[in-house]
Amino acid sequence: MLRQREQGENFTEKLLDRALMDAALPPADRALCRELCCGVIRWQAALDWLIARKTAGRTQKPALQDLLRLGLYQLFWLDRVPDHAAVHETVELAKRFGFGPQAGFVNALLRNYTREADEARRALAELKQTLPSLGWSHPEWLVARWQGRWGLSDTARLLEWNNKPPPTYARLNTLKTTAGPLLDRWREEGVEYDFGSWDWIGESNVFRMKAHPSLALLGSFRDGGFYIQDPSTLLAVHLLNPQPGETILDLCAAPGGKSTLIAARMQNQGRLIASDNDDIRLKLVQENCTRLGATCVEISPTATLKLQPASVDRILIDAPCSNTGVMSRRVDLRWRIQPAEIARLAQMQLALLQKAAPLLRPGGALVYSTCSLEPEENGALVQRFLAEQPGLTLEAERELLPFKDGVDGAYVARLRSN
Ligand code: SAM
Repeated sequence: MLRQREQGENFTEKLLDRALMDAALPPADRALCRELCCGVIRWQAALDWLIARKTAGRTQKPALQDLLRLGLYQLFWLDRVPDHAAVHETVELAKRFGFGPQAGFVNALLRNYTREADEARRALAELKQTLPSLGWSHPEWLVARWQGRWGLSDTARLLEWNNKPPPTYARLNTLKTTAGPLLDRWREEGVEYDFGSWDWIGESNVFRMKAHPSLALLGSFRDGGFYIQDPSTLLAVHLLNPQPGETILDLCAAPGGKSTLIAARMQNQGRLIASDNDDIRLKLVQENCTRLGATCVEISPTATLKLQPASVDRILIDAPCSNTGVMSRRVDLRWRIQPAEIARLAQMQLALLQKAAPLLRPGGALVYSTCSLEPEENGALVQRFLAEQPGLTLEAERELLPFKDGVDGAYVARLRSN
């Protein structure tokens, strides 16, 4: 079961970061290591299907299964590793990890596939049509759920999106710099970037980072020139429309991506209360506010949050959610999420809305957002909430879909207090 702390975490990515931090690897090897780990997790179901075809479905020890997945991933999903190297390295790894007696089996299975690569590729392509959950390596219940809503073609586009390494986007921090000086600095630092354009984001506010040295080495990052953030996450702040001088509550603030953007829109004038029930993650809000120069932010753990009823101009609830809109960034999420979790999260989301609503002043705006694609956490939840809150009306609502909008999935609703 996904626990509260876990929803915000990228397990694989964090473990990888930690392991790579200690490893003295050149950048190209780091990138390959990342690609192998994330790719094998993403494509696990399809890789297991390939293995099962050659083993009559016999189960292997988990570590041996992983090695076979690793070898096959290189054969079928990577161009830059020659087949003979992928086979040789996997066999050597098998020996090193105590599978010496199975080295012949590993060698035979992989070599067999190098000889039948065209046929296997055709079978994999067919699988995407006949059994999309296996062909695109996602849980069956999730694919059935999405297919019921969007049909096969759009669902396949979503599954394909989820299986691709996501782009990195940088949001300009106007509290510290403007676009011209930031881009000049990037050119000096060897950052390659592209401009992007989205109707909810002003010109030259978000850039796609095509290639860059490690962020820790970039002065422009350390000095707070930008924040790493998908364009979809800016929609909630756009609909919140924060103004200088206001009192604003960000109820689920950590790690602070939206809080620091709200502070920038407020031009650091007014009062922004950034709250969260996770004290460890709240430290990240503090770090980000310090780096980005967001000085109008008051950090408040949920347990000590004290606000008078009807005292807040605007509230953002960027709720903990199933994260199904950001599966390309959370590679192992698809294998952890369970159907029952969605109903449990919806209850928690409803409770957050119920807690926040009395704090809103008459005429104030409450923005509810998730990075989920599931109606129970989005539009249907807002309708449930509105049914019990005659004092609020739905003013605007928007869903972003990766296969339609080309960004992470997101949902945002703006409610107005009468
Ligand atoms: N708004 C953040 C940003 O832009 O960086 C991301 C917020 S994340 C989607 C959801 C946050 O809600 C997590 O940091 C989690 O700790 C917090 N959270 C979960 N349950 C909560 C609760 N009952 N009250 C307050 N915060 C909660």
